[in-house]
Amino acid sequence: MLTSYQPFVDGAPVTAAGGTFTTRNPADGEVIAEVGRGVGTDVDAAVRSAERARLGWARTRPAERGRILLRLAEVLRANADELARLETLDNGQALVQSRGDVETAARYFEFFGGAADKLHGETIPLGPDYLSYTVNEPFGVIGFVLPWNAPLQQAARGLAPALAAGNVGVVKPAEDTPLTTLELARLAVEAGLPSGVLNVVPGYGHEAGAALVEHPGVRKIAFTGSVDTGSLIARTAADRLVPVTLELGGKSPNIVFPDADLDAVARSSWIGFTLKSGQVCSAGTRLLIHTDVYDDVVARLVTRAAAATLGPGLENPDLGPLATAAQFEKVTGYLKLGVEEGATVAAGGGVPDDAALRAGHFVQPTIFTEVDNTMRIAQEEIFGPVLCAIRFTDDDEAVRIANDTRYGLAAGVWTTDLSRAHRVAGQLESGQVFVNEYFAGGVETPFGGFKSSGYGREKGFEALKHYTQTKTVTVRV
Ligand code: NAD
Repeated sequence: MLTSYQPFVDGAPVTAAGGTFTTRNPADGEVIAEVGRGVGTDVDAAVRSAERARLGWARTRPAERGRILLRLAEVLRANADELARLETLDNGQALVQSRGDVETAARYFEFFGGAADKLHGETIPLGPDYLSYTVNEPFGVIGFVLPWNAPLQQAARGLAPALAAGNVGVVKPAEDTPLTTLELARLAVEAGLPSGVLNVVPGYGHEAGAALVEHPGVRKIAFTGSVDTGSLIARTAADRLVPVTLELGGKSPNIVFPDADLDAVARSSWIGFTLKSGQVCSAGTRLLIHTDVYDDVVARLVTRAAAATLGPGLENPDLGPLATAAQFEKVTGYLKLGVEEGATVAAGGGVPDDAALRAGHFVQPTIFTEVDNTMRIAQEEIFGPVLCAIRFTDDDEAVRIANDTRYGLAAGVWTTDLSRAHRVAGQLESGQVFVNEYFAGGVETPFGGFKSSGYGREKGFEALKHYTQTKTVTVRV
């Protein structure tokens, strides 16, 4: 692995026109790599390269496209140690989680590689005088703009279905965590992906990101990130009349009914808000607990929080640092706000005492109790290891509180009553519902938001629909 990176265009690194920027280890603030700062001309070169590769890739036999993506899955697995280490150095998360992300990335290429030759169209019955059929055609150049919380996994999540369907891509990774996406592009060529099919331009959002979204050669945009940037990108896309997939934030409810298996609730709900130190869009950050079991559930989670280890991701702690200095400022600001709003701090509430962690962006796992759902800490996405425990007394109230947010990305339901599980799942305004295991699902299960959490779907066969456009051919015979 390198310590100096440049945009990856047309199958090779090229020197960025915008100079360089640095990326730092959030565990200690040290510079880990110098990265070429992509600007408009770099984006233009990347889009042109993708355009040149477009027809060749779209016309490659789907089974062969699939084989290349399957090979890429294996190449990722063969490089898992180095990729995981790089991801952890760049975004701070525990090494075991980075290993998990490399495997998930490999699974995306495996799943969609396997689907490449199964993207059937339909025949439409119009009677004996006509033959009508549909073909799922790629858009062409897809522009991906991605965030910093799970860089490799999110790049794979978008690229795998897009490339499987015959599209070509230009990726703008987050400026804070560009390294594994650049490695992915290099490894894809090693796996046999033709030059130009996958290009990566690191850089800042207002430079490389804006240039990509505005580029006339980009035929569809896939964005994962914050609501504000998503909304801005959707407006630009609207002016250009190109489709967009938006995967935005969340403030997901995780509802504990009194008949639930409380051991499982405590285990899984802990992961639900502390995975990647809470920097997960679908994190279960509002724990709605029935009043009969409220104290019991809170006590279990407080005990778990007291035992949690914090440290550099390479040491495999329960919680690594937050990925960026800005995120650290944001999260610690919400810790103060929660107290001002009248919530009780049952665990955490600040930064760790350990002097060895002072230079990193570490935050204690924090549990606020007696939270009212109208408080800002319950309504706004914090994107850190912060849980709001909210009390309810009956099913209707639980659903009302769960839905009382601008977001609708994910929701958890804990109950042993089958009817209640399905009834409540049906009432939740949420793109996905996990019953009796938070984050249940995989690369196979469609993922996306209701309401301000975005639109379009990633993952599963559904994602292929978003990376293809239907052509209907009707013949008078
Ligand atoms: P962000 O919106 O600040 O940045 C995301 C990307 O957009 C970055 O690459 C950035 O450089 C780029 N960008 C910024 N301004 C731009 C502009 N004007 N034009 C084009 N590109 C621009 O988001 P973030 O803070 O990096 O990520 C955190 C957010 O992402 C959270 O809200 C989280 O919930 C969300 N997220 C959602 C999902 C999901 O699948 N729904 C997954 C992960 C993260």
